Amino acid sequence: MSTIGVLALQGDFREHIQKITDLGHTAIEIRRTSEIDSIDGLIIPGGESTTVARLEKVTSELKTTTSDSLPLFDAVKLAIRNGMPVWGTCMGSIILAKDIEGSTQGRIGLMDISVRRNAFGPQRVSSQIDLNIEALGIQSYPCIFIRAPLFIQAGKDVEVICEYKGGFVMAAEKKMLATAFHPELTNDLRVHKYFLEMI
Ligand code: GLN
Repeated sequence: MSTIGVLALQGDFREHIQKITDLGHTAIEIRRTSEIDSIDGLIIPGGESTTVARLEKVTSELKTTTSDSLPLFDAVKLAIRNGMPVWGTCMGSIILAKDIEGSTQGRIGLMDISVRRNAFGPQRVSSQIDLNIEALGIQSYPCIFIRAPLFIQAGKDVEVICEYKGGFVMAAEKKMLATAFHPELTNDLRVHKYFLEMI
């Protein structure tokens, strides 16, 4: 059984916690550096990437009164570099991306992909699109896109898992996984299982 941390600064972290728990693993909310030590993998949920980057900065500045030694994103980066599996969904994929088209907003920035934010339009054109994702089996996967990014470029070590709309929406690099869509909002557990198998 694995213990999965879910970044809980903002966004739909509760839905991921539910899915991980449904699969018989332990899930804990992560808000500070000291909590990272106890996890086998980290999920960065959907939400708003600019808000999360700001919250991370503010909470990290408060850390002087705690035993947290590094700002949260720096500690996450270190853990990823040391092999901790991480999965970003939608906003989480933006936080993981090295390049965010036209933006200097805060990020973890370790995955060699370039993302275009809000590439599918505003909230009101959110949609579910069933896509064939070979890595998940023959049955199509219900991909929910909510102000989602499109991944528009990948470095040479990135495995593109699902292409869509002239770019791609699921990819992996070493122990990093990114989905532009929201598996935590479906009843289909296949992407959560896929991530757990990376651990
Ligand atoms: N558009 C959001 C952003 O740029 C991501 C939306 C989502 O996670 N559903 O951060």
